[in-house]
Amino acid sequence: MANLRFEAVEEAFKKRPLEVNTPKERPGDFYAKYVFNRAKMYKYLPVDVYQKLVDVIDNGTRLDRSIADAVAQGMKKWAEEHGATHYTHWFQPLTEGTAEKHDAFVEHDGKGGMMEEFSGKLLVQQEPDASSFPNGGIRNTFEARGYSAWDPTSPVFIIDDTLCIPTIFISYTGEALDYKAPLLKALHAVNVAATKVCHYFYPEVRQVHSNLGWEQEYFLVDEDLYFARPDLMLTGRTLMGHDSAKNQQMDDHYFGTIPERVQAFMKDLEIQALELGIPCKTRHNEVAPGQFELAPIFEECNLAVDHNMLLMSLMKKIAHKHSFRVLLHEKPFDGINGSGKHNNWSLCTDNGILLHAAGKTPADNLRFVVFIVETLMAVYRHNGLLKASVMSATNDHRLGANEAPPAIISSFLGRQISDLLDHIEKADKDNLFNLSGKTGMQLDIPEIPELFIDNTDRNRTSPFAFTGNRFEFRAVGSEANCAAAMIVLNTAVAEALTDFAERVDTLTAKGEEQTSAIIDILREDIKACKPIRFDGNGYSDEWKEEAARRGLDCEPSCPVCFDRYLDRESIRMFEQMNVMSHNELEARNEVKWETYTKKIQIEARVMGDLAMNHIIPVATHYQSQLAKNVQNMVDIFGDVEGKQLSERNIKIIREIAERTNIIESGVEELVNARKNANKIGSQREKAVAYHDTVAPKMEAIRYQIDKLELVVSDELWTLPKYRELLFIR
Ligand code: ADP
Ligand code: MG
Repeated sequence: MANLRFEAVEEAFKKRPLEVNTPKERPGDFYAKYVFNRAKMYKYLPVDVYQKLVDVIDNGTRLDRSIADAVAQGMKKWAEEHGATHYTHWFQPLTEGTAEKHDAFVEHDGKGGMMEEFSGKLLVQQEPDASSFPNGGIRNTFEARGYSAWDPTSPVFIIDDTLCIPTIFISYTGEALDYKAPLLKALHAVNVAATKVCHYFYPEVRQVHSNLGWEQEYFLVDEDLYFARPDLMLTGRTLMGHDSAKNQQMDDHYFGTIPERVQAFMKDLEIQALELGIPCKTRHNEVAPGQFELAPIFEECNLAVDHNMLLMSLMKKIAHKHSFRVLLHEKPFDGINGSGKHNNWSLCTDNGILLHAAGKTPADNLRFVVFIVETLMAVYRHNGLLKASVMSATNDHRLGANEAPPAIISSFLGRQISDLLDHIEKADKDNLFNLSGKTGMQLDIPEIPELFIDNTDRNRTSPFAFTGNRFEFRAVGSEANCAAAMIVLNTAVAEALTDFAERVDTLTAKGEEQTSAIIDILREDIKACKPIRFDGNGYSDEWKEEAARRGLDCEPSCPVCFDRYLDRESIRMFEQMNVMSHNELEARNEVKWETYTKKIQIEARVMGDLAMNHIIPVATHYQSQLAKNVQNMVDIFGDVEGKQLSERNIKIIREIAERTNIIESGVEELVNARKNANKIGSQREKAVAYHDTVAPKMEAIRYQIDKLELVVSDELWTLPKYRELLFIR
């Protein structure tokens, strides 16, 4: 009997690293080769058009439709020089990944021929017939179509023969159907709020933007082995598979030598990413075998999100070229680390002041403390919502599953910052702050050395850690669109800063000196947000109890976590910051619950199929072989001695019978649980039922299958084993 598994293993062993042609130029020269960035805008656009466009990008002024045609002309000319024949609006619907629909530049020329055309109208707005994108009921299919609109702040780029135009995707009534539209609004909100607070310290600041530096973790699996695993193909993770005898115990993979085939993949990926303007910087092995990481230099948040989306699709394409499959799932393998996407986040002014970094003067340091504390206030007030923003059916396996990070949001500051906040909170105000005549104010805030983060002090278990000049949100899933987390974080910080400024202004209106008012409010907030500060071990059971006492959100169920989007405080925050309406929030939650259900539903089906059509047949086949052997032994040695000599085989025959029986009834229960859940009308209740009654049944079946893997003859087993998936590359 041909066994796909052994064929796949044989194929995988034969593979050699692919030759990757390194460009002759230095990275600086081919960087952003396929991006219509400023240098190209300057070259391909008339000067007045260039200036207007730059004004739109830098200052958020409204796009003057009259320049759209000229911009489109310039873009088209540049794109054609790079061989592009098509264009597409590129957007981020509420599914994973991106969407695009390619149109050729060609139009009728009116004389029976064709001409290539690309007008401003086509650049600025389109109506993709996209009725099948999730919309949570906002868009009634036959009454209103969604449309996509150009986002000039993220430059267009070329992939293969197509000019890709980053766009938002919204309904005709203006509701967001994507991630980018609310993200841009959240970034605007935090810009306005932070700029106002900056003016207490630096009146010259005109704008504040949000930075994002993501670190993308992923697994690579040989493509032939991947194709022999229907669960990987259909769900992105292994639904079964016994631990490999060796996995990550030795810590020998982390930062080890990168395997050659992987190295070739990484090199290829980096070149193409650089050409698309993604500033890749770091690459290394991760903790688990077969796991790797790539991180670029941080960028403005909206651009960084686009670049991450682009990188993920690039990874899939290039992995295939190298005969790998990239697994972006947060937990492709049980028993070893999962993958995340740390989101390094900070705020920065237009004149380059990093607001989460300490400075040299007392005023700088007061500003630093204000931004740290108000970020903590945001995270404290909306800790449940922040968790909801990173929750998904797939990330559910990682959060709270005894690996980084836990399913309770808290913030690690490190000893020095903690001491500093305690000092400001407790010190006598007159000591802390006194006005000393003309020389201005003096703050008794201890000097903060530039490199004050002690690296040994880094708490790897913290989901929201301060790391020197930024916060690192580590609970984001490897597969997720970073925008979901960035929308909530930036909006919450916008709210906290707005609230802070209002209270400061109320005090100054009553005649209090400004710095004194700032310190009063700061002290109030340092006290208020204390429950979110936690420097201990996030995995411990004591922390779970302590966190509950502190009133932090400890809900472990993914579909229930989504409720946080519809809490009164969340709706108020999103509406006041003008990021999303109640209606949008409700619609998006419908999508979240539906997506959750579908994912578990697919897994349950695949589990049922594999159990019945792979596992049980293979196990019983082996069982028959053993039974035949026992019979032979009885024929030779007689009943008593024959059976005695076959003791081990009889034991296995029994074990297989017992386990396959449990599996079979487990699958039946699984089907029934699904049937019952499917009858539920409400998306929320259905998702909860899938979480509570369907998902756990798969665990029980898996347990039996993994035990069978240990007793059934290796030769018969059809699914590539963990050791093969993880170590052959
Ligand atoms: P780690 O030790 O966590 O792996 P790295 O030095 O690799 O940290 O940096 C992780 C990411 O953080 C990179 O993308 C980096 O550009 C980004 N980063 C550094 N400083 C900031 C900042 N001030 N704001 C946002 N991101 C930053
Ligand atoms: Mg990191």
